[in-house]
Amino acid sequence: MNKYAALRQFFGHTAFRPGQEQLVDGILQGRDVLGIMPTGGGKSLCYQIPALLLPGVTLVISPLISLMKDQVAALTAAGVPAALCNSAQSLEESRQVWSGIRRRAYRLIYVAPERLEKPRFLELMAGQDIALVAVDEAHCISQWGQDFRPSYLKITDFVDALPRRPVLAAFTATATAQVQDDIARRLALRDPVRAVTGFDRPNLFFDVQRPKNKLAALTALIAGRRGKSGIVYCATRSAVEQVCAALNGAGISAVRYHAGLPEEERRGNQEDFQFDRRQVMVATNAFGMGIDKSNVSFVIHYNMPKNLESYYQEAGRAGRDGEAADCILLFAPGDVTTARYLIEHSAGDSEPAPQEQAALRQRELERLCAMVDYCKTDRCLRGVILDYFGQSHPEACGNCGSCQGVFTEADITVPAQMILSCIKRVRDRLGYYVGAGLIVQVLRGSRSQRLRTLGLDALPTYGLMKDAAQEQVQAYLDCLSGKGYVYTDPIHATLRPGAAAGAVLFHGERVTMQARVAPPEARSGPSAPARPELDPADGALLAALKAERTRLARQEEVPAYVIFSNAALADMAIRRPRTPDEFLEVSGVGRVKAAKYGAAFLAVIAAHSGGAGRQAP
Ligand code: ADP
Ligand code: MG
Ligand code: ZN
Repeated sequence: MNKYAALRQFFGHTAFRPGQEQLVDGILQGRDVLGIMPTGGGKSLCYQIPALLLPGVTLVISPLISLMKDQVAALTAAGVPAALCNSAQSLEESRQVWSGIRRRAYRLIYVAPERLEKPRFLELMAGQDIALVAVDEAHCISQWGQDFRPSYLKITDFVDALPRRPVLAAFTATATAQVQDDIARRLALRDPVRAVTGFDRPNLFFDVQRPKNKLAALTALIAGRRGKSGIVYCATRSAVEQVCAALNGAGISAVRYHAGLPEEERRGNQEDFQFDRRQVMVATNAFGMGIDKSNVSFVIHYNMPKNLESYYQEAGRAGRDGEAADCILLFAPGDVTTARYLIEHSAGDSEPAPQEQAALRQRELERLCAMVDYCKTDRCLRGVILDYFGQSHPEACGNCGSCQGVFTEADITVPAQMILSCIKRVRDRLGYYVGAGLIVQVLRGSRSQRLRTLGLDALPTYGLMKDAAQEQVQAYLDCLSGKGYVYTDPIHATLRPGAAAGAVLFHGERVTMQARVAPPEARSGPSAPARPELDPADGALLAALKAERTRLARQEEVPAYVIFSNAALADMAIRRPRTPDEFLEVSGVGRVKAAKYGAAFLAVIAAHSGGAGRQAP
């Protein structure tokens, strides 16, 4: 069998996606590889296909048990012998798996990194012919990433202890150039084939909204997405509790997930979401890498995350099946304070030296600034993200809130001068720079005791903008920050005139601001869908196919997408296969699944096509 036959027969795909073939070839030639592909880009295939073709077994190291469980279920369904080896298994289960390993019954063995340190496991592995070690979510090895797992650092010790060095393959979705280098170095990859495919996810629509009342806005957004699966991310456990209760109160079927809940409840809730028994998961970022659910149609951030890597990774859990999906961030200025607090009070897993800790914190605050810029920008949101990951892109994507909003250009030179001069005057008066809150208070002529004590009510700029709403002044300030007229100190959050401020204050440089006139309402779907629209007749068939999938999933107790992805069902609805051979033509249908499920789905298609004269012979 060659790689194309494996792709076709086991996974039902006709072509490799960008980057996949290069990585598969690298591994098959015995080279180490480093694959950087966006979430949903198809990293798993890059090691699963070599695992089918190489003599010897492939060991897959992955950070979370739920993630591995799904992969093993999906592989088994596709006819690939695979097993999971973990400490939570019963004695009987692990005895079976171990004996299977000794019999060399599996092509792939999935393990958590902690396993590698167990002497008995190492002994078992030393007796195996390991062809490939694949490290999934490899950014966990880097302290520069946000999911650092100390046990990942033990991978090299494990590899060194093996009788023969296998090929090493590392994969991740989120890695800046710095993190990529860190991964290669820490895993001691030997001159790896590096494939970095685009970070862009064209099927995702991005938007940032600033609702006055977040809960009301969230409820409205979800109410407009009936029957669609989604995740709501909150910054804190208490926000999860509050939001989940409110959604349930509004008749939306939601479950919660955070590290403070008992293990059984977390597992139960995750399964309810995974199996589509509940529509919405409300969670902290503890609900993370374990999510391989491919039919998530929206991810709404109730709070701003700490950095764009986290945001893109979390938002990226939407639309893994390639269907159009929405990523919406509900922003409020208070989110910045929360994020700053979380950064300053985070205790790392490891114990780096104090200077290293200070450097890490400094780096995190810089990342936070980039995240805040994303929330406040009027530029194309996709463009801001791709810039951050160092990828070039067109100026406007046409599929984000900025590109679709209607903007007007307003001249704000006068308010800009007022603000800049206020920042200077407050500094002259106090001898130090202050934060945005105080500046806005001075400009709006607040009567607060603090202002009077500091003597700021005597400044000539006091009350200059007393007729402007607080949000308005804040919006001017954001615009000035975005354009470099105001600089925000990343550590103290104090404002200072930027390099370009003098031109506005003393040389009459004009400042303009883009203002969104009509924010897009909760839309039914993005305007740039990734695939052609179904016609209504196909839509009815699709619904029937989904119902059949649900029935089979219940029967076999697996998540629906393990049977077939949404994309596969959509293709089925368009092609309307009538024979087993035609069924094999459907994208995402391999031999084993065709044999197992073909008859059931063909029957549904035949029943639907009867009236149209397309009955199966
Ligand atoms: P990642 O781990 O990179 O986030 P996965 O490996 O989970 O992504 O794959 C995401 C989805 O893409 C899966 O549903 C998978 O079936 C699909 N996929 C992967 N490779 C291909 C391909 N060559 N053609 C079509 N679909 C693919
Ligand atoms: Mg993956
Ligand atoms: Zn855009």
